[in-house]
Amino acid sequence: MSVPTPIEHLYLHFPFCTGRCGYCAFISGPPPADPSDVIAAFEREYAARGVRLAPLRTLYCGGGTPGLIGSEGFKSLNAASFLTFAPHYEWTVELHPATVTPELMGTLAACGVNRISIGVQSLDDAVLTHCNRRHTVEQALHAVAVARAWIPDTGIDLIAGLPGVSMGAWRKTLETVIALDLPHLSVYGLSIDDGSVWAKRGVPPPDADALCDAILEAATLLTAAGYERYETSNYAKPGFQCQHNLNTWHGGDYLGLGYGAASRLGAVRRDGLGEEIHLTAEEDALERCLTQLRLSEGFSVTDAVQRYPLLAPMADHWKKSLARFRAQGLLTTDYAPTARGYEVLDAMERQLLEALD
Ligand code: SF4
Repeated sequence: MSVPTPIEHLYLHFPFCTGRCGYCAFISGPPPADPSDVIAAFEREYAARGVRLAPLRTLYCGGGTPGLIGSEGFKSLNAASFLTFAPHYEWTVELHPATVTPELMGTLAACGVNRISIGVQSLDDAVLTHCNRRHTVEQALHAVAVARAWIPDTGIDLIAGLPGVSMGAWRKTLETVIALDLPHLSVYGLSIDDGSVWAKRGVPPPDADALCDAILEAATLLTAAGYERYETSNYAKPGFQCQHNLNTWHGGDYLGLGYGAASRLGAVRRDGLGEEIHLTAEEDALERCLTQLRLSEGFSVTDAVQRYPLLAPMADHWKKSLARFRAQGLLTTDYAPTARGYEVLDAMERQLLEALD
C-alpha cells in the first residue's frame, strides 16, 4: 500500500511486560536479549509497509513497557535511519515506574525525548498488589521525581474505579497528585479486558454510577487546580496537551509500527493485529470528524463541512442535534462537552449518526 503524502506522526509499540496486570489481556512477553533486535524489527516493518515518513512532528513510544529495552535500546532507536524530526517535535515515552532509573532518563534526555508518561494508576499499595502492577507507591512517586529531574514534561496515568478504592481514598489520591503539580494527567475508567486474569476470575466491572462519580470528582478537582480537561480522559496545564494524541483526535493520519500498533493512513484503518479496513469516503470523513466531539475545543459544523464537503447533507441534522444537546446542558456554548456531556459522549455520537439511517 502506498500513501501519497509522507506521514508526520509515528507510534512505536513495545509489546513487552514482566508480568500481567489483572485487568489487561494484551499479549506481551519479555523483551529480546538484544534490544537492537526490536529496532531492527521496526526498520524491517517500516520498509515493508511502503509508507514514507516525513521529519516527525510527533513520536509516541507506547506499551507494553518501552522502558524494558533500556538505554541501549533507546540509543539504537535514536540512531535508526527512519527517524528524523521536524523542528519543535514532541517525543513521548511511556514508562512503567519500575523501569525508571537516572541512567535511563539521562539516555532518553540525551536522545531528545521531551515528554514522559508514567503509569502510576493508584496510590494505594494494597490496590497495586491486587492489580499485580509490580511496583509500589513509593517506587512510583520516586520514578516521577527522577523522570522530572531529566525531562520536566512528565505526566502520569491514573485508573478510576479500581476495586477497593473508596471515594475518600480516590479524593486523597487526586489531592496528592495535584500537589505534585505535573503538566499532564490522564484519568481512565477501569475496563477489564476479555481474557484478562480478572475477567477469568469473574471480577465484576466497576459499578457504572460509582465510576461516573469518580471520574466527575477527578474532573472537578483537577479543573479547580488549573488543569484543562482537553479530552475525555486527559487533563493538561496550558501548553502541555499531548500533540500526538491531538493529531489522532483531530482526524490526522499516523503510522503505527510494532505488534499491537494501530495505523490510520488515508481511508485505511489498520488495527493492532494488522487487519486492514478500507473505509468509504463518507465513513472516513465521519470517523475523522466525530472524534473532534471529545475535545474541549468544541465542535463546529461549518468547519466540519468545509473540511469534508461530502458531509454537507448532515449539516442540518447536526446543527439541530447539537443545539438540543446544548439546551440539555451536555455541551457548552462552544459545543464542547460539559462534565455531564462527557458521560454520554457515545450516545451523542450515535444521535449525530442517526441521519445516516
Ligand atoms: S496494563 Fe500495561 S504494564 Fe500491565 S500487563 Fe498490560 S501492557 Fe503490561
